[in-house]
Amino acid sequence: MMQQAEIVLRGIVQGVGFRPFVKRTALKHNIKGLVENREFGVKIVAQADKETIEKFLDDILKNAPDVSTILSSQIEFIESYDKEFTTFSIAPSRKEGNVSALIPPDIATCDICSQEVMDSGDRHFSYPFTNCTNCGPRFSIIQSIPYDRTNTTMKKFIMCEDCKREYTTVADRRYHAQPNACPKCGPELRFVEIIDKEPTIIAMRQEALDTTIDILRKGKIVAIKGIGGYHLVCDAKNKDVVDTLRQLKHRPQKPFALMARDLEVVQEYCQLSSQEEKMLSGQQKPIVLLQKKNQELEHIAPGVKNLGFMLPYTPLHYLIFRHFHLLIFTSGNISEEALENRDLSAYEHLSRITKYYLTYNREIFNRIDDSIVTYVGNQRILIRKARGFIPKPIKLDEMQVMPQIFAAGADMKGSFGLTKHDIFLGSQYLGDLGFASNSEFYEESLGYFKSIFGMEPEVVIADAHPNYFSTQFAKEYASEKELPIHYLQHHEAHIYSVMAEHNLQKALGISFDGTGYGNDGQIWGGECFIVDKNHVERFSHLAYKPLISGEKVAQEPWRMALIYLHSCCPDKIGRLIPASKFPQRDLLVHQLERAHTGIMTSSIGRLFDAVASILDVCHYNTYEGEAPMKLEALVDVTYADSYGYEISNGIIDPTNMINEIVEDFIRKKPVEIIASRFHFTIARMIYDLCKKMSAVSNIRDVAISGGVFQNSVLIHILKNLFADTEYIVHFNENVPPNDAGIALGQAYSCLLKEN
Ligand code: ZN
Ligand code: ZN
Ligand code: FE
Repeated sequence: MMQQAEIVLRGIVQGVGFRPFVKRTALKHNIKGLVENREFGVKIVAQADKETIEKFLDDILKNAPDVSTILSSQIEFIESYDKEFTTFSIAPSRKEGNVSALIPPDIATCDICSQEVMDSGDRHFSYPFTNCTNCGPRFSIIQSIPYDRTNTTMKKFIMCEDCKREYTTVADRRYHAQPNACPKCGPELRFVEIIDKEPTIIAMRQEALDTTIDILRKGKIVAIKGIGGYHLVCDAKNKDVVDTLRQLKHRPQKPFALMARDLEVVQEYCQLSSQEEKMLSGQQKPIVLLQKKNQELEHIAPGVKNLGFMLPYTPLHYLIFRHFHLLIFTSGNISEEALENRDLSAYEHLSRITKYYLTYNREIFNRIDDSIVTYVGNQRILIRKARGFIPKPIKLDEMQVMPQIFAAGADMKGSFGLTKHDIFLGSQYLGDLGFASNSEFYEESLGYFKSIFGMEPEVVIADAHPNYFSTQFAKEYASEKELPIHYLQHHEAHIYSVMAEHNLQKALGISFDGTGYGNDGQIWGGECFIVDKNHVERFSHLAYKPLISGEKVAQEPWRMALIYLHSCCPDKIGRLIPASKFPQRDLLVHQLERAHTGIMTSSIGRLFDAVASILDVCHYNTYEGEAPMKLEALVDVTYADSYGYEISNGIIDPTNMINEIVEDFIRKKPVEIIASRFHFTIARMIYDLCKKMSAVSNIRDVAISGGVFQNSVLIHILKNLFADTEYIVHFNENVPPNDAGIALGQAYSCLLKEN
């Protein structure tokens, strides 16, 4: 029987290509009716039989555009209705009253806009700022709400007659496209060269683009202003310029992100799954880490398994890629400092690296870096959550008491979060808050989020680390506003972040990372917890080792190797850590002999470092995670055999494993086999720990988080090992497993406390 349904969807459903998507879906299901934008979100009127309408709604909820977020859906069936629809159409917007306060993330250029830019007959031909209702800058240009042109950095550009017509015509695909622009009225390119320390405009518009292409072809580096900040761009195949960039950016080994013309170019170098292909070419256009299939770009990412690729996501990128196949597109910043988004600051700070700038006369209001994503089968791991993903909200479990929370996050990968009712809004990736430019960015961004989403925190939660910037900041914030403040142990927060994503109240927590402040004042990082709402029991942890030479241990894996060898098999030190190669060795051995009272660590991250150094894979981390990533690259995931270890009295003792690894290595067993066996051992260890924890708690949900689980090979092995067991293994999917995911865990723990 024919019925009519009214469907109401709330969330980020406007300005993200939602109505055309609904129309396509309706046509697929042969549904008649209409879709319209309303002040509360989107309203759909659907006519068909009940079952068809339900399938249609299901399809919408499952396959909504990547950059949209549906926070709630309501459906109401009406049996008698007057109007019979003969088609499915997009109705004119009707907005009355308050517009929803959520704003969309930046959206990669859509197919139609990119075609117009390439079409010499179109008025947008070769115009780098072309956009429409379904694509273009959003978060990066929105200064305040409601999201209208006057509240964006497009304000100063007055629309020409043609643009205004598009903007005001209901049937036009640029209807209400706030950043709408054309060569006549919109932002324009300029090519700036620093001459005698003075930034000098040497070309405008098309000529600026032509000059850029020319300079890139000559093997130079150009700083190019993008959506959320500057990129440093150069020819990826020109080894000389790549070397120069490495020297100037102080990145001797760290992989660079690549932008490729299209999927075909990516396929020359990497294997692509359908998931990866979809993510590469979707609306979010993050950097996707893909497995290398040959060694051709080894100079871009030496010694690691993956290459990071993205595809063009602005018309400017498309225009540049008419002339190139492959370019380095790395963040325009100095080492770990904040991404440059303002012209004058970029000219000043990036002038150490280049004197050439392709910029334009529209301000980037919110700086936001490229996101980084990787896949293990169908499972997505967010490594860096920023452009295209922020400010998408995460829905929390509805609880009795829902105070507004400010969760301060952690320092190494800064990202705070705010909650309002059942919505969590996380900030973009803010970098290492140890750098002044990043901590300023943190404060700036917090002010923005609070004002734009109308949030006034009532309770504060921060990491228990006494010296974190974020903790200090939260403390001051709470005392200034006279708010209650909670502190949460770092690794517990990692576990709560997974529990928040999967609505768990109880879990077995495996929290492995590089470093975090422990409840006993030691440096933790190999922690297993039984979590029951607010009650956390530290069930087990990796055996403590003395953390001599402080910060340097994390930078120089050979030191950690020495620490392990000294405790497991001191007679092998001479062989594996020769004084000729490591002149400070004996001083360290001497310190170890006396180190019984200093700081101790249970970090699994450091254990990966130690093994990488013992195997002569990497002795110095020139970037965070280098040693573990180079170790990961050697692993054959099908290898399933483990080394020995002991778990007793809450201590995981890897002594047997270290001894066996050393023996294997000295006997010249291939390092690939040793590395594989090491990874399998860590997975096996996790499984054993779960068995022990579930025996005393009866919990079967396992929450796995922490920086170690950015390792997709380890996740792959874990998934195989846990398949067909009684355990349900949960990972982070919507926040990174690294410290940028901490704020969500803090917020969730705070909610559990309050309820
Ligand atoms: Zn478009
Ligand atoms: Zn115009
Ligand atoms: Fe951590």
